[in-house]
Amino acid sequence: TTIHDWARSDEYHNSFLIPKDPAIDYAIHKSKEHGLPDISVTEAQGKLLNLLARSLGAKRILEVGTLGGYSTIWLGRALPEDGHLTTLEISEAHAKVAEGNIANAGLTNKVTVKVGPAAETLKTLSPNPPFDLAFIDADKSGNLTYFLEAKRLLSKGGVIIVDNVVRNATVADPGVSDENIEGVRALLEHLKADKEVDATTIATVGGKGYDGFLYALKL
Ligand code: SAM
Repeated sequence: TTIHDWARSDEYHNSFLIPKDPAIDYAIHKSKEHGLPDISVTEAQGKLLNLLARSLGAKRILEVGTLGGYSTIWLGRALPEDGHLTTLEISEAHAKVAEGNIANAGLTNKVTVKVGPAAETLKTLSPNPPFDLAFIDADKSGNLTYFLEAKRLLSKGGVIIVDNVVRNATVADPGVSDENIEGVRALLEHLKADKEVDATTIATVGGKGYDGFLYALKL
């Protein structure tokens, strides 16, 4: 089975389950046009984030790593009228593209993009009122820092999702190392002893290969 088979598999399932949303397609198109890297979540994963937010009844969502706002729009679409999403992005250029995509989706009044290093921005955020859901998908070396900050900002029963924790099984391969892999390992090592959360890995395969989400519940 090749990556093309998995892309086809994703498309097949999506064709039954995910109606076309012009704003979602626009975000992909504009991100490509502005030369942003093709590293957003897949359509099926975006829909999963959307369903999760709705299942939780999330009113306040935190995102770390905006890129062109693709996952932001999936999550923003899940918010009720009085809901809000704060998304953190280090790149001014990415944030600008994201803001255009978010506006095109009609979500400007529900979404705030904060530009700067997430570790710094997170320190300025208050847990009153708390967030219900956090999606962490920025530089992987920051995973543990972002996770700890998200945990501080979340309500009990809140959920933290961390993207790219499987990385084609390289995270589990002791013979391989890079800063992304080490960022995931540091988080896993921490979670072994963290009694304030309970977590599991959702390993996934699709058009962007073999990877997975970490799903953590704040106790
Ligand atoms: N969540 C997006 C989606 O699925 O559509 C994809 C995010 S992309 C994988 C990671 C983003 O994190 C990039 O836009 C990058 O500029 C940003 N980033 C990298 N380091 C960061 C940092 N220290 N603070 C905030 N954002 C950072």
